[in-house]
Amino acid sequence: MPIATVNPATGETLETFQPLDRDALEVRLARAEAAFRDYRTTGFEHRAELLRRAADVMDAYQDQLARTVTTEMGKPLAQAKAETAKCAKALRWYADHGAALIADELPGEGDVADSGATAAYVRYRPLGPVLAVMPWNFPLWQVIRFAAPALMAGNVGLLKHASNVPRTALALEELFHRAGAPEGVFQTLLIGTDAVGDVIRDDRVVAVTLTGSEGAGRAVAAAAGDALKKTVMELGGSDPFVVLPSADLTAAVRTAVRARTQNNGQSCIAAKRFIVHSDVYPRFAVEFADAMSALRVGDPMDAETEIGPLATRQGRDDLAALVADALAHGATAEAGGLHSGGPELSDVSGGWYYPPTVLTNITPEMRIHHEEAFGPVATLYRVNSLDEAIALANDSPYGLSSNVWTTEPAEQERCVRDIEAGGVFFNGMTASHPALPFGGVKRSGYGRELNAHGIREFCNVTTVWLG
Ligand code: NAP
Repeated sequence: MPIATVNPATGETLETFQPLDRDALEVRLARAEAAFRDYRTTGFEHRAELLRRAADVMDAYQDQLARTVTTEMGKPLAQAKAETAKCAKALRWYADHGAALIADELPGEGDVADSGATAAYVRYRPLGPVLAVMPWNFPLWQVIRFAAPALMAGNVGLLKHASNVPRTALALEELFHRAGAPEGVFQTLLIGTDAVGDVIRDDRVVAVTLTGSEGAGRAVAAAAGDALKKTVMELGGSDPFVVLPSADLTAAVRTAVRARTQNNGQSCIAAKRFIVHSDVYPRFAVEFADAMSALRVGDPMDAETEIGPLATRQGRDDLAALVADALAHGATAEAGGLHSGGPELSDVSGGWYYPPTVLTNITPEMRIHHEEAFGPVATLYRVNSLDEAIALANDSPYGLSSNVWTTEPAEQERCVRDIEAGGVFFNGMTASHPALPFGGVKRSGYGRELNAHGIREFCNVTTVWLG
């Protein structure tokens, strides 16, 4: 994929970039290594101040950053602004809490004596330069979600961002520069996927975090495994949204629409499979399809727009192919459902639009039953019991998060016990928060971001024992 800014609302190429050549890459890797030597010795308060200043810069440049994001990947401008606000919040959260999350840990006195020590403790030390391979869908948030805890822990960051968001990638490097980060503490590497393996193998790079598709995860985890380097993998998802009879149906429908279509439907934690109990199915199905059809699709810079274009032509075509396959195998489109190439998929501007779509009569032989639909396409299933709902929820190779609408404590407990996912959100939709761990199981990846778990992923958990 060329490194370029291409406006998905028009299809117009606005700017192209040359990838870093070998020498320029070497300069940056050397800079990261040198920066780590000093940065690792800084105290928590110093690092916290850096994160606070980065948050201030994020706030000060909110409008500019949001416009860059919307221009490069097409999310509605208000959502891009909300993303910058969320980044500032996470930077401040780790500035406030990071030190406590990785403070020295003391084992119980009896255990210390039992180990033969006079004293013992655990110190969370930084590892070194960490490579972050990041996606375009939340192009600020995914990066800050990595960078805030990594920098707070004393690591330094190297960002290989998605090739379609180079201006955002450079703006992130500039953000840390303006915040006063020493040279080399956070750098953007404008490189293609072909150069990622060499960076992972480089001795100066100690670990890799990837947020992206399963395919990218396999490639990066394989390279890191070969080099025996730690990885965190945040991959795809096809989260269930289960609605049971006790649900507040009006709220469930409203939230279902948002959970499926936020970020133009291109979110790993979007609810994608809607599994509804037959007692409430008829009303839910009608209201959900109506609300999806009523969404305003259009120019993402327009304040009235609820759904912008998909970020890439390929993404739009992949989604169309997934829907076409379902319709060819007997699915019914209750809303939207355009299914092949052709002018009806784009508006007159030539952008990569796709209509909000609801499909019913889904069967296991359809690709969409097992694959991630990365755009505003919902599959709707009818079930007769909680057992059936949980079985269907788990009938997916993914296990990122899940949503369940019920006010019954016994049903909630069953779901917490039995749904195979990294999160179970009741009577709401999945959203990340700095204080809560984020990550999946199965083919959604491994490791966790955010919370104490996130900051500890890239630490040398050091045992200190005094005889
Ligand atoms: P993607 O194509 O996998 O790209 C993600 C990043 O990986 C990009 O920087 C990409 O670079 C790079 N990449 C792709 N193939 C690679 C390879 N073989 N070797 C090294 N790097 C490689 O994913 P996307 O289309 O940007 O994002 C959509 C996917 O990300 C969805 O599956 C979504 O669910 C998932 N996602 C997961 C989370 C989570 O937290 N679990 C969050 C957001 C998104 P190029 O751009 O240069 O190809």
